[in-house]
Order: sequence, then structure tokens, then C-alpha cells
Amino acid sequence: MDQSGISDASPDVTARALKVLLTPNLTFAEVELTTACPCRCVTCGSNCGRAADDELTGAELQSLVDELHELGCKRIAFLGGEPLCRPELLTLIRQAKRRHMLVEIVTSGMGLDSAMAVELKAAGTNSVTVSIDGLEAAHEMQRGVKGSFRRALAAIAALKAAKVPVGVNTQVNRASMPELESMGDVLLEAGAIGWQLQTTFPMGRAASSPLVLNSSDMPELLAILRRLALRPKLAPHLSDAIGWWTSDDTRLRSTPGGLARCWLGCVAGIQHMGVTSQGCVKGCLALSDAYIEGNIREQSLSRIWHDEQRFAYNRAYQASSLSGSCANCSQAALCRGGCTASSVAFHGKPGVNENCLRLAELKSK
Ligand code: SF4
Ligand code: SF4
Ligand code: SF4
Repeated sequence: MDQSGISDASPDVTARALKVLLTPNLTFAEVELTTACPCRCVTCGSNCGRAADDELTGAELQSLVDELHELGCKRIAFLGGEPLCRPELLTLIRQAKRRHMLVEIVTSGMGLDSAMAVELKAAGTNSVTVSIDGLEAAHEMQRGVKGSFRRALAAIAALKAAKVPVGVNTQVNRASMPELESMGDVLLEAGAIGWQLQTTFPMGRAASSPLVLNSSDMPELLAILRRLALRPKLAPHLSDAIGWWTSDDTRLRSTPGGLARCWLGCVAGIQHMGVTSQGCVKGCLALSDAYIEGNIREQSLSRIWHDEQRFAYNRAYQASSLSGSCANCSQAALCRGGCTASSVAFHGKPGVNENCLRLAELKSK
């Protein structure tokens, strides 16, 4: 029996569950406000630094928020690049709140001082995630900015003081992995109330980075994750990018104190949408540009979203798209090959993730 019991169900029940899971129902959108960023991370999957040519204007972004609301989107994350580089950020937050959406901000923490934390709170921000990718030396080696670690911790403290719930997102790679077990207390002391882990994908500036983990690192990563899960406070939880279907996936993936969550496959183009700073629409911003489904300057967001021919890797999913270890996996029916963006980044196509922790667990038995 696996941790949820779902994957032990009959093929008929699994097929019905899959039909529900793959029925488009937009709940969450990530909006990349800009690719401008004061950091120059060697692990940046989007090559951020300078603003892209012809980024969406403030008016276009406001229309986008309205269109997302009309599509039923309940939660919106503003990110970058560095979203604080866009002067329209507070206006957009207020607009999304008027549309009754939950609003999250993802930031490096650069430029997020006490005054900005108070403004984010006043605008209605529901939560902020600060990216911290190791202890001071490892974090700043990746960011390429001296002082960025202390500024990220100061941003957390400022948000806590302003009563904005603040969490941390950490990219797991060869620089940060050895430090994960030392980071928790530092983040807790700074004021973080949540901590999410994702792996660095070989994309953008990390395309050929020696920092990117491979399948031989997964047994060690799984052991570290299991020790971290025992933390009494600020135990991290796994993002979509790590997993999938280990015997303790639910424990590793659920937010402490939150609803139990197990891995039920990628929801890009189903519940999830990403829009780039130039208006390109993807099922998820972590996907490469080969997965752009349209541009809101050429077609309405509604037309792109409701076109049944788009987001085919999920909306027209076929088990035959699985390959490598995923093609023969007993959990493949619902897992569908782990995170699509990870699969594309590592293997150039959906449906195969050799960095799967389940594979590492099975090999260790
Ligand atoms: S802080 Fe984030 S957006 Fe900026 S360069 Fe680093 S990874 Fe890219
Ligand atoms: S081997 Fe593939 S299908 Fe099986 S659990 Fe891992 S990612 Fe999912
Ligand atoms: S591509 Fe990966 S990160 Fe994006 S929605 Fe799918 S599983 Fe989640």
C-alpha cells in the first residue's frame, strides 16, 4: 500500500481520477513582472538581470489581472526577475485584492526594507517568499552580490515586523545541499514561517552548471530530506520539482500544520498558468520557451486558455509519452513522470525524470 492508497486503485478508478485531475480549472497563475533583477545568479533559470525588451506595460498587466480573475483564478504570484523592480507592483496587488485573489510575492529580498514591507501589507499581500539558496557564502556565490544574504534575512525580519507571513524558497544544488541542515535555525530565527525546497534545473545560466544535481545525488538528498522532516519547527516541504512517490511523499510534501498533500502529477495548463514579462503564456513559468502556448498581445488570455489544442502535454496526456524509468514505473498512472519542467530541462521532453527520489528509494532497498 502506498502512502495515499490512490495508486492501488483499479484501472477504472485511476482513469476516472485522472479525468478529474486533468480537467482544466485555473486556480493559480504566476506573473513574471520583469526579468530585471539586481542579482546575477549563476543558477538563474531565466537569465535574469536586465529587463527584457518590450515588457508588458502597467496597463497591460492590470488587464491581465482582470482576465485571470474572469477565468476563475483564485491565487496570483507576482515574481521576476525581481518584482520590486516594477513600480506598478503595489497597484497590481491592490487590483488583484479587489478581485478577491490571494496574492503572493516571490523576491530576492533586495530592496525590501521596512517601509516596503509596510506598503506590501497595506496593499493586501497575503504572503511573501524570499529566495535563499544556502548560508551566506554559498548564497552570495550564487547571487553574485555581496551582502545579498544579510539583505534577504533583513527582508524576512521586516516582513515579520509588518505582519506579512513570510516563507523561504531554497534551490537545492551542490552549493546548498550540504548546508540545508544548518539553514533551518537561521531562517527560523530570521522570522520565516515556511520553507520550500526546489531543485536547480539545467536551464538559463544553470544550463551546464556543475551545481546541478543528478540521479547519483538523489540517495543523499533523500536522506537529508528525511532528517529535515524531523525538525520540530520549520521543517521544509517539497515543491513540485522534487520527488516523486516515495513511501513518505505525503510527509515530505505537506506543509507542516497544513493539509496533507501527496504528488498527483503536474498541473501545468490544468490548474496552473504562467505569463512571462513579454506576455507569453505557458502552463508553468518553469517550462522552457518551447512550451509557449500564445501571447496575450496577439490573442486574449481566455482564447489561449480555452483552446483545447494547447497545453497538450497534460490536456492530451497519453501514457505512451512516458519514457525511461517512468515508462515502467508502478506509480506512473497518476504520477505521469514527475514535474514536466524538470523532465524538459533534464531530458528535453515531458514524461521522464531520472532524478526521481522513488527510484533512489527503490535502489536502496
Ligand atoms: S534572484 Fe532570482 S530572478 Fe534574480 S537572478 Fe537570481 S534566480 Fe534570477
Ligand atoms: S519513476 Fe517517473 S513515474 Fe515513477 S514515481 Fe518517479 S517520476 Fe513518477
Ligand atoms: S511543470 Fe513542474 S513546477 Fe510546473 S506545474 Fe508542472 S509539476 Fe509544477
